[in-house]
Amino acid sequence: MPHAKKGLRLDLRTLILVLCALTAVVMLLTSYFASYRVQRQLLIDHALEANRVYAAKLASITETFLGSTLQQLAVSAQLQGQRLDEPMALQAETERLMQQGNVFNSVFVVDAQGVLRAISPAPLRKMLGTRLQTPGALEALRERQTLVSMPFLSVADNLVVALSQPIFDSHGKYLGYVGGSLYLREQNIFNSLLGEHFYKDGSYLYVVDRNRRLLYHPNAQRVGTLVKGNILVDQLATLNSGTQQVVNSDGVEMLAGFATVPSTGWGVVAQQPLAQTVVPLRQLILDVIDISVPLALAGSLALWWLALAITRPLWQLAAGARALDRVGTAAHLHQVRAWYFEAAELKRALLFGLNLLQERIGRLRQDAQTDPLTGLGNRRSLELSLAQLEAEGRDFCAVVLDVDHFKRINDGHGHDIGDQVLRRLAELMRGCCREGDVLCRTGGEEFLMLLPGASLEVATSVAQRLRLCVQDTPIEPVGAVTVSLGIAHWQATGTDTPADTLSRADRALYAAKQDGRNRVKVAPGEA
Ligand code: GH3
Ligand code: MG
Ligand code: MG
Repeated sequence: MPHAKKGLRLDLRTLILVLCALTAVVMLLTSYFASYRVQRQLLIDHALEANRVYAAKLASITETFLGSTLQQLAVSAQLQGQRLDEPMALQAETERLMQQGNVFNSVFVVDAQGVLRAISPAPLRKMLGTRLQTPGALEALRERQTLVSMPFLSVADNLVVALSQPIFDSHGKYLGYVGGSLYLREQNIFNSLLGEHFYKDGSYLYVVDRNRRLLYHPNAQRVGTLVKGNILVDQLATLNSGTQQVVNSDGVEMLAGFATVPSTGWGVVAQQPLAQTVVPLRQLILDVIDISVPLALAGSLALWWLALAITRPLWQLAAGARALDRVGTAAHLHQVRAWYFEAAELKRALLFGLNLLQERIGRLRQDAQTDPLTGLGNRRSLELSLAQLEAEGRDFCAVVLDVDHFKRINDGHGHDIGDQVLRRLAELMRGCCREGDVLCRTGGEEFLMLLPGASLEVATSVAQRLRLCVQDTPIEPVGAVTVSLGIAHWQATGTDTPADTLSRADRALYAAKQDGRNRVKVAPGEA
């Protein structure tokens, strides 16, 4: 048989281990990846929500601030209604408003014609008596109601948002308005309120009006400019609050939460960089690896042990299969612990095969030692029996038997009838023997019986009984047949070999033939 090609040949154990290792690596990577994704999303969601809540809180604070400030102006407007023609009182009131709460950058009273009647702080008084044409002033005159203006450039060239309350007299006649301004680009209550945001990790806050103009931004340069192309700012128009992952004007990915100030439609946006938010993930994954690697190692050891346990019975069965022809293989196979279904089936199949093999070998051995015509032993079986008796040192008597005038039977009735006679004779021989006696057909019509442990007397009586039996049992269609027998005794203590003993028996048989056949002759003692 040609040898199998040499090379890398994996055994089952290696395959199982490789498979398990691959599975473990895939599982670990998958779980790392999954936990990374999940944790990342959690951090992002958490940051988005925190920013939304923060923006909502600031929007609400702003709303409250605007509300209470407008309330102050409203109270003041009522007072002004009674003393619009008292410049000193008006001036005193504007100063009082300036100092109250330190909210405004400037406070002013404008009459129904748009003429500035009082203003604080003092440096602005030079404008008194002028007619204000700023968008905010015109808007207040036009609207004649509580107003938070759009950002506009003031007379003093400040970017401002003006809060104003209309002044009516007791008859409800419009007299003008009292207003306070917030300078967007300078320090004021409004931006210190929003600017308290802690700017760590690159997070920041900005506020836009409903026209997307920046009212507040940590970068003061940008205040007053329009925000363009920002989906988030677009959403402010429709939603009260929400979250959005956006890219800011510097191209940085940001996690933003936003909320609107209801009364003004301003949008407050709190945001932080995505990259900073997910920084803790690296440590998290390292922690996960720290925990999972020892577990994975322990798991690998368990797998290695399991791979051994799985392959051991297969190895043993394979070794058994290689040695089916050896003695003791069945016992080895029986000892194999086939603890799982496939191994148990394999073991069963091997044992079944082995039994079949041994049965066949046994039958072949039997066939090789059997005379096919009579079913008695043949010469080979005789030799084995003699060798065994000699080895055991057991005395025996050999009785040789030859059919008288068998040639005549053959000639007279044909060879087949001759065979039939031989078969019948074998049966008669069996009938005259004890268990343990060895019966053989040694030649054409010659037989031999070994009677282990029998004395010459016993052997003689057995031979006589057989002779008489043959003589008295007609074999159809031949009729009466006779046999002649020669007997010799072998003694383990003697000097004769078993072969010598057989020769002596042959000689006794010859003597019986000479004496007229149908008789038993005992060989004289050892030569
Ligand atoms: P004797 O009394 O002297 O023994 O005379 P015999 O005719 O029996 O002579 P012998 O023993 O020499 O006979 C042998 C004959 O046995 C020769 C052969 O034709 C016959 N024979 C040998 N083997 C077989 C066999 O297997 N079947 C049959 N039918 N005949 C056989
Ligand atoms: Mg003969
Ligand atoms: Mg004969």
